[in-house]
Amino acid sequence: MGEPKPSIHRDADHESAHDGAVRARTATPRLHRHVGARDGLPLHLVFDADDTLWDSNIHFLEAEAEFVAALVAAGAGTHETVRSTMRRRELEIIRSHGYGREPYVVLMRRVAAELAPAMARAALAAAAERIGAHLMGRHCELLPGVEATIAALAGRHRLALFTKGRRDEQLRKLERSGLGRHFSHVEVSPEKDDAAYRRLVEAAALDPARAFMIGNSPRSDINPALRAGLRAVFIPHPHTWELEHEEVDFGDERVTVLSNFRALLEIF
Ligand SMILES: [Mg+2]
Repeated sequence: MGEPKPSIHRDADHESAHDGAVRARTATPRLHRHVGARDGLPLHLVFDADDTLWDSNIHFLEAEAEFVAALVAAGAGTHETVRSTMRRRELEIIRSHGYGREPYVVLMRRVAAELAPAMARAALAAAAERIGAHLMGRHCELLPGVEATIAALAGRHRLALFTKGRRDEQLRKLERSGLGRHFSHVEVSPEKDDAAYRRLVEAAALDPARAFMIGNSPRSDINPALRAGLRAVFIPHPHTWELEHEEVDFGDERVTVLSNFRALLEIF
């Protein structure tokens, strides 16, 4: 089971702030008891960016749908064979270029060159460029309630941003978001694994017992944060990238699941 329970997904977009603590039995009471939030001292809240603060993966899904359709229409294969070539090449590109939009454009170029029938080579190369340019330029819309919630939390706690990908790309998105001033520490890492979390704890001077990682990805936000001794708030996003799915131990008292971003104000 790599995904959160379906009910969480279904609720993600339309639940009100007051219904935010999906799993009340594991959320607020334990949170307060264990972190000592009632002592009134600020907590360290570390935020993921893509699909936590703003939409991101949906842009890749839409680019891919358009690109695959163009390849299939040109006789480059079926939807299944084209997609499986993309998944295979994607892993290579991640290793050589990292995560992000620029690497995805490289991926489309390579797959177009690899699969295009001779007659359609130029047209598919042009399609990769056109779809890639659109992907690169897309604005990442803030998710509902993010702006006001981050501003309110910044008045009470110390906020940090911890995101994965290419530094220039992620910092550009942060700048466009207008949220940058709320974060006292911003870190972009090529990967968010255990070692990266250990570096973060050091660099951001986090007290693990008072620190929470908040994000949509079990693989990059929740599980490695727990292994690094932090607590975690999981806010599922319906379009989370398949490579970010992983089993989460919902029985772990350090994990809180919320159905929407505004609900953070109820627990912090
Ligand atoms: Mg994310």
